[in-house]
Amino acid sequence: YSAPNRVIKMAVIGASGVGKTALVVRFLTRRFIGDYERNAGNLYSREVQVDGEQVTIQVQDTPGVEMTDNSISIPDHVTCSIQWADAVVLVYSVTDRRSFDLIDQLHQLIVRTGGANMPPIILLANKADLLHLRCVDSQQGPLLAGTLGCSFYEVSASEDYSQVHQAFHRLCCQLAKQPPA
Ligand code: GDP
Repeated sequence: YSAPNRVIKMAVIGASGVGKTALVVRFLTRRFIGDYERNAGNLYSREVQVDGEQVTIQVQDTPGVEMTDNSISIPDHVTCSIQWADAVVLVYSVTDRRSFDLIDQLHQLIVRTGGANMPPIILLANKADLLHLRCVDSQQGPLLAGTLGCSFYEVSASEDYSQVHQAFHRLCCQLAKQPPA
C-alpha cells in the first residue's frame, strides 16, 4: 500500500498577455513554446519531488484580467481559482505598466477571497529578457512584494528555466512544510 500523493494546488493570476500560460508550461514541461495552443483556464498537472516526497502539483492557468482605459474586468474564474488554490502566483510583465498596477487590486481580491485562510503568494515579474521594452524598473517589484508581504522573483519564461523553476519550487516547498488541510 502506498498513500496517494499529496496534491499541491496553485493558481496563476495576472493581466492578459503577461505570460501566465508560458510560465506554467515552462515550469511543468521545461519548455518554452512560442506558439503553444492558448488554453488559459486549463488545469495542468505533474508529479514532482519536493524534499524527497513525491507530490502532485496542479496549476490552474486563469484567463487574464482584461483592462480598458477605465475599467477592469476580473473573470469569475479568477475568483474561483483563488478559492480552490493552496497558493497563488501573481504575475505582471516588466513591459506592461498596467499589469504591474493591477497587482495591488488582485492582491486585495485574494485577501477578500481568502479571508482567514490567506494562501501563500509569490510575485513574479516576467519578460525580464525584453530589456529594450522594460517600463517597470527592477526596484519596484521587490518594493511592492515587501508591501504585500510576499516573495519576489524576476523571471523570463522565454529565456530562463532556472529562475522560473526556483520560484515555483520554493512555493511548493513552503506548502509541503505545512500540515495537510
Ligand atoms: P497570458 O495571457 O498571461 O497567459 O500570456 P501568454 O503566456 O499567452 O504570453 C503572451 C505572449 O508573451 C506570448 O506571445 C508569449 O510568447 C510571450 N511571452 C511570455 N513570456 C515571455 C517572456 O518571458 N519573454 C518574452 N520575450 N515573451 C514572453
